[in-house]
Amino acid sequence: MPDPAIRVEELRSLIREHSHRYYVLDEPVISDAEFDVLLKELKVLETENPELITPDSPTQRVGAPIGNQFSAVTHLRPMFSLDNAESQEDLIAWEQRMERVLEAAPNGYVCELKIDGLAVVLTYRDGVLVTGATRGDGAVGEDITANLRTIDSIPLRLLGDEVPEVLEVRGEVYMPYAAFDSLNERQTEEGKPLFANARNAAAGSVRMKDVAVTASRGLDIWVYQMGLIEGGPDFATHTETLEYLKGLGLRVNPASESVETIGDVMAYVGRAESERHDIPYQTDGVVIKANSLSEQDSLGFTAKAPRWAIAYKFPPEEQTTLLKDIMINIGRTGAATPFAVLEPVFVGGATVGMATLHNEEQVGVKDVRIGDQVIVRRAGDVIPEVVGPVVALRTGKEKPWSMPKRCPFCSHDIVRPEGEAVARCTGGFECPSRVREWLFHFAGRGGMDIEHLGYKTIDKLLAEKLITDPADIFTFNPNELLDYEGWGEISVGKLASAIDTAKDRPVARLLTALGVRHVGGTVARMLVNHFGGLPALMAADEEEISAVDGIGPTIAAEVVSWSADPANQALVAKLGDAGVRLEEEAPEGVDSDLLSGATFVISGTVEGFTREEAQIAIEQRGGKATSSVSGRTTALVVGESPGASKTRKAEELGVPIINGQRFRNVLDEGLSALV
Ligand code: NAD
Repeated sequence: MPDPAIRVEELRSLIREHSHRYYVLDEPVISDAEFDVLLKELKVLETENPELITPDSPTQRVGAPIGNQFSAVTHLRPMFSLDNAESQEDLIAWEQRMERVLEAAPNGYVCELKIDGLAVVLTYRDGVLVTGATRGDGAVGEDITANLRTIDSIPLRLLGDEVPEVLEVRGEVYMPYAAFDSLNERQTEEGKPLFANARNAAAGSVRMKDVAVTASRGLDIWVYQMGLIEGGPDFATHTETLEYLKGLGLRVNPASESVETIGDVMAYVGRAESERHDIPYQTDGVVIKANSLSEQDSLGFTAKAPRWAIAYKFPPEEQTTLLKDIMINIGRTGAATPFAVLEPVFVGGATVGMATLHNEEQVGVKDVRIGDQVIVRRAGDVIPEVVGPVVALRTGKEKPWSMPKRCPFCSHDIVRPEGEAVARCTGGFECPSRVREWLFHFAGRGGMDIEHLGYKTIDKLLAEKLITDPADIFTFNPNELLDYEGWGEISVGKLASAIDTAKDRPVARLLTALGVRHVGGTVARMLVNHFGGLPALMAADEEEISAVDGIGPTIAAEVVSWSADPANQALVAKLGDAGVRLEEEAPEGVDSDLLSGATFVISGTVEGFTREEAQIAIEQRGGKATSSVSGRTTALVVGESPGASKTRKAEELGVPIINGQRFRNVLDEGLSALV
């Protein structure tokens, strides 16, 4: 057993170093989860050995000492950190700790999204913004007033005639994903290093000497806490303060919700976690606060954090790990995609051993080398990716990678045309990897959606030469699989019936499955709605295709060149001969202009329709179906288990919300059924 005193010192020095990199340099070299593990170990050791606690221990202090780039601002009231919870048990223990002080459970909670950005404090005197500062070490922060003044949503003057004499509010400056993506695009174009995530980008952008740079970065703010008020009204609850701040023109997150019990809190956490990828900015948890301000007063603070609030952290979506090798895969279009072979790491709720590196250009831009420690990200349904290397951890032994000259699957040349980001295998359908990916795409979720026909089965069918192209899927005899291990009457029967069902899929699905460049689900539906089926579409020229509402010349050119290829013509004919539907029967009595100009968003399952059928029904009537609610949305259609964020957005924007029955009326009668 190592001496706890020595380990405590080791941990403190590591934590100080990483805090400095994170808070001052905006260049962390380990993931937040790894940082939290160090901090937790230190906390446990200090709890077990209280004599080792010192006032300057990172467990007793907030953040990190400030850098010397900006002048210092002493906060009117100290800025705190938050204690963390990771489980329901942690939340219950927190409630019990409060119960011991209050002699009853708190009288309700407020749940808020934990925004992943940079904490700032704004001070208004007589309604005018006088200072904006970072949190710094909690007592003293950095003066970034000039930078914060460039953020449009931070009012320079509060709204209303009755502003308080002094108001100090706290909030999080963050970078929406859209701004983050365009920032990294610009960095790529200018050959500059990429930002690993939106938090680092926000923290770096707001602490710029040149405020013009801050102004160009698309930052925004959510205000979540009143720090101090003088010469203003009194409040009984946190919710009231938020309403008040909103009324003064400050940007308060609409997802805040006041609830009664810890059970309600857990339900909110569950919803927030499942919807976290539907919102346009980064969140890393939920902050829960006891709502009553008098209870908050009784509870007070520890050295580092309020006792009346806690941060429930979502499982981490980023981790660092060793990049053992870089290999390539050849996709259905022949694109050579490099991927990382990793020391397996638990991230985003799963163990990840491989992650995409996107394309050759990205490996170069990110300067990822074999042997690097890399940041791996796995968020929601998105495939795991390598965000970038941790340059500070390089030993000098890392090896740069370059795209192989020959395809490892078919030995044909791999070439990257001048000016393109993607290198391609030139082996055409002689390349077994390309054929495999082509079949997988065809049968996959976005395509013909044939259940039980994943990579494993496709590999078997290819190995036994039972199929060579997508049309063979509908002609081979599934019973032949009975000869092989792992296949029985039941599994073969299931596969056969899934294939049979797929013959009758909407033609737009078949068109998507065929993988014409730029033709995804929505475009395919527009084309099929217009032409009625593949034979007419394939006979059309560029002019006729680009005349379809919403279809431009690039798509038209791709469709025409695809249709002109004899191999594709033969494939479509073979599919037709195999009994796959190529033409849509025109729906009877449908007015194709009934919903023209209208845009609908569907949330949840609408009775009697699959998501796709509902979209087709709208589009057949000249309307549009989109995925996110905006001011231009005509109505939000809600079925069973709709997403709370869509409903909330529609309510905020005053977009009508209709149920399945009303939706059917709209399909029959048009927009008059909305009123
Ligand atoms: P924290 O992130 O655990 O929680 C406190 C912060 O949450 C507040 O300061 C505020 O900025 C923010 N917040 C967001 N929404 C809020 C809301 N609605 N209400 C109240 N606060 C809200 O606190 P911290 O002290 O900044 O914790 C450190 C974080 O930084 C941890 O996630 C840690 O992993 C990370 N960190 C990482 C490294 C590294 O090297 N990777 C180093 C230091 C710290």
